Amino acid sequence: MRGFFAKGMFAAGLGLLPGLFAGAGLSPAPPAQRALQIYFVDVEGGQSTLFVTPDAKSLLIDTGWPGNNGRDANRIAAAAKDAGIKKIDFVLITHYHDDHVGGAPQLAAKIPVGTFIDHGENRETNDEGAKRVFRAYQQLLATGKYKHTTAKPGEVLPITGMQVRVVTADGELIERPLPGGGKENSSCANAAKPPVDVTENPRSLGTLITFGKLRILDLGDLTSDKEMELMCPMNKIGVVDIYVASHHGSLPSGSPVLVHAIAPRVAIMDNGAKKGGSPTAWDVIEKSPGLQDLWQLHYSEEGGSEHNAAAQFLANLQGPDAGNYLKVSAAADGSFEVFNSRTRDTKKYEAKKN
Ligand SMILES: [Zn+2]
Repeated sequence: MRGFFAKGMFAAGLGLLPGLFAGAGLSPAPPAQRALQIYFVDVEGGQSTLFVTPDAKSLLIDTGWPGNNGRDANRIAAAAKDAGIKKIDFVLITHYHDDHVGGAPQLAAKIPVGTFIDHGENRETNDEGAKRVFRAYQQLLATGKYKHTTAKPGEVLPITGMQVRVVTADGELIERPLPGGGKENSSCANAAKPPVDVTENPRSLGTLITFGKLRILDLGDLTSDKEMELMCPMNKIGVVDIYVASHHGSLPSGSPVLVHAIAPRVAIMDNGAKKGGSPTAWDVIEKSPGLQDLWQLHYSEEGGSEHNAAAQFLANLQGPDAGNYLKVSAAADGSFEVFNSRTRDTKKYEAKKN
């Protein structure tokens, strides 16, 4: 698909040679229509997903890990720079694990942040790691430099240019189906009731993001017990175009009652080489009805030769830490494209015909 990239360049009238553009380290110009840009930042098995609307309003879902000399904050800041923004309007923290909220202090030191949004108190009070990252996050909020809100299921977040609706938060779920949802879910019949998870994962602040006709689901590390509550017997979400693979593609998340009912056209897995990308979760996505492609931030060592996408869909292959990202550019008609910063290739997905 290199040809598409080159054509897109000239169609955009930038007058740059593709080689020069690639050499500058920038991602390609968005489609001619005003695009929503979504950067899947490589934070090595944590989450950090940056949404930038056509009017340059921004939402970051999670901040990656602490430590590593600010590696994750640097990568997020690089994505923000590529998108042409100088501050992040909203930072949504899905839950209080170090691979999601751990990078918040370093991020806030690196780039201005407007408002932090979360699910409320840390509920995993018997875990030293969760307590430590929650304390650091509370200290950051206590500086008084940031607005802070706690979100509840059903609420629409105050960002403009796309609709961000909360579907799960602090273990609570939307009670009624969303527009497009409400059908009986056939995957429920054979599904065993999963064990109750008592970590912060089922507390994840999950959102359905709508941009025109495009629907994107991000449930953080929500676990299968909550997936069943959300999706059985009735699918409260409906179908989506893009599924951000829950829990980095690891168990106990991403069960068929969720994935096969939302039936994504494309799934994007924010796994690391040795975190997420488990064969069982990978198989559920691969077998999902209507799936066109599964993209991964990393080759999964656990997945091996049988349970990894083809190389063109992998942002990072085996080998030294390269920090390559994936980027979605979406139009309001529901068409979108995925750019792999390693290969510099872009793959287009047409708008649904209905
Ligand atoms: Zn996680």
